Amino acid sequence: MTPTPTVAVVGAGPAALAAARRLRAESRLKVLLVAPDGVSDYLGGSLPVATGDADVSQFRAQVELDGVEVLAASAEAVGTGFVRVGGAELSVDAVLAAPGLATEALGMPEAGSDRAMVSFWDLTGAAMAAPVISGFERGVLTVVIATPLYRCPPAPYGLAIRLARRATRLGLDVRVRLSTPEPKPLAAVGTAVTELLVNSCEEAGVELHFDVLPEPDALAAGHVVDARGAVPSADLWVVVPPHRAHPLLADLAGPNHLVPADGWGRTAAEGVYVAGDALFSPFPRAVAPAAASGVAAAEGVLVDLGLIDEVKPKLPEPDCFVDQGDGLYSRIQISYPSGPPPVGTPRVVVSPPESANSIGFDDAVARWRNQALSPDRDCPV
Ligand SMILES: Cc1cc2nc3c(=O)[nH]c(=O)nc-3n(C[C@H](O)[C@H](O)[C@H](O)COP(=O)(O)OP(=O)(O)OC[C@H]3O[C@@H](n4cnc5c(N)ncnc54)[C@H](O)[C@@H]3O)c2cc1C
Repeated sequence: MTPTPTVAVVGAGPAALAAARRLRAESRLKVLLVAPDGVSDYLGGSLPVATGDADVSQFRAQVELDGVEVLAASAEAVGTGFVRVGGAELSVDAVLAAPGLATEALGMPEAGSDRAMVSFWDLTGAAMAAPVISGFERGVLTVVIATPLYRCPPAPYGLAIRLARRATRLGLDVRVRLSTPEPKPLAAVGTAVTELLVNSCEEAGVELHFDVLPEPDALAAGHVVDARGAVPSADLWVVVPPHRAHPLLADLAGPNHLVPADGWGRTAAEGVYVAGDALFSPFPRAVAPAAASGVAAAEGVLVDLGLIDEVKPKLPEPDCFVDQGDGLYSRIQISYPSGPPPVGTPRVVVSPPESANSIGFDDAVARWRNQALSPDRDCPV
């Protein structure tokens, strides 16, 4: 180990930011954060951006953390003792990789087809889809969840509700449907969430179709078909694309696209730690579990470098907002008082719709922005 060990943190989402903040508290380390353009995105902003109600800049922040060197670049490879950037291998003592999940780029229907498809599940994709989605004024729009693995399980339902409420508000002749491979929404976290999503969709006029699994090859070519012909027809498909292992971690990921690791993010590759959505974990893919795993992986690095004694990882408390349209959100708060799943049963609190400000959505955005900044640059929460 070098006298001042260097730890590379890859990514700038909630997992990487939490990890970098934990690591920089240890003054005997150099912390290098590698992220495209040196920016952090708040993915929950993707829905208002997709409907043309917000700009990407409202949910994108430049990372400026005292004690953390930010390298504005994409990592090309990671492995034991190195991270490759711009074709050069930087030598490091540990790599903490939190690049999230990759999403598949989907083809578009052939020219002349009277159907259209857009696909997104991040801010940049949402901005590209926005002109098509906000310009759709007549017909059937179907939100398609392509595969069971995707970020933030309630969010596609929120998107469908947001679109249906928007159509009603603007007096558009638009019907909204949602298809999902699940037999019912989010059964894993209990009936309260299933009921919230089903009832909210019904009240907003969203028609739900369960057990629909689009064929991957057809989807990649821009068609939505199911072997049983179960996909509801549409004039515009809005697809939550298949999520895959991030290419940086593909060799470490299992067949489920997720990377197995111990409770401190240690992977099968020595000195390579994983955190966030990329990690195989029993928790939902949401901000709080990502941040908790970032802290745990940072502590794994510190233990292995001999800088701290082992600390027990904290259980996360996921906090998801369900877009109810017209500026309203419901909130789903989950905790694990009897231990992590599958042994412990989650405690779920569902709050009825309120404005973004009173329900805590605006605070969550401000908290994320402050995570990307050092305290003296914080904006008020
Ligand atoms: C539409 C939507 C709504 C959501 N709503 C909520 C919500 O209400 N509540 C909630 O808790 N969660 C929500 N989530 C889920 C939450 O945003 C994710 O679970 C969380 O962001 C995962 O954090 P992460 O750090 O693992 O990955 P990400 O946030 O995906 O961050 C990955 C980071 O890695 C960077 N990166 C990628 N490739 C490279 C590379 N080659 N080199 C370097 N860096 C790279 C990316 O630029 C990014 O900064 C939502 C997600 C979506 C898509």
